[in-house]
Amino acid sequence: MKESNKIKKVLKILYKKYPSHTKTTLNRMRNIEDKQAPFKILISCLLSLRARDENTEKVSKELFKVAKTPKAIANIPLKKLEKIIYSSGHYHKKARTLKHVSKELIKRFKGKVPKTKEELLSIKGIGPKTANIVLAFAFGQCVIPVDTHCHRIPNRLGWVKTKKPEKTELELNKIIPDNKKCEFNAVFVQFGRDICTPISPWCSKCPVAKYCQRVGVQRSR
Ligand code: SF4
Repeated sequence: MKESNKIKKVLKILYKKYPSHTKTTLNRMRNIEDKQAPFKILISCLLSLRARDENTEKVSKELFKVAKTPKAIANIPLKKLEKIIYSSGHYHKKARTLKHVSKELIKRFKGKVPKTKEELLSIKGIGPKTANIVLAFAFGQCVIPVDTHCHRIPNRLGWVKTKKPEKTELELNKIIPDNKKCEFNAVFVQFGRDICTPISPWCSKCPVAKYCQRVGVQRSR
């Protein structure tokens, strides 16, 4: 089977296996009547760095009860902000980043989240993964945010041979069809948590095992 057909097959199987994630992603993208949605997505993403999802969701909710605009976060006292986001971890650094990003949005972008990757990356504290998450989930642009799961799994499958997520993103952009890019992150994150786990993946119950080269997999279950 041609490599591109294998990729299509794997995507079909996984997107079918995780339909709610596919739907959630699309709904999140479409549900942008909330004028502050892009800002909330940006802030949640910054809070999620090196944190567990459940925590991020809880902390984001608490924060948005008190402050949900760049102005409100820029004005909130640092100590108070640190206290609210404490359980997301690295709260010292994150509080400063949230304030800096909010002030930059006010100063340079009239309080709005910019819609291009270049502009997003020009703000200190926003990296490529965060920028792509904002572009995908806030503005419905078909980009692939590459986190640890989206980097590890395509390497194991043998689709890419990359050391860094930034390179993986470039390679994935060449091989993933445009109409599959939007959901890619949500589906692969869930697959990476459930089956293709970082240590000892569940190859014995993997629905795409027959298409996988298992590159670098030393031990599996
Ligand atoms: S076969 Fe194993 S390594 Fe390959 S995708 Fe499935 S779980 Fe991951």
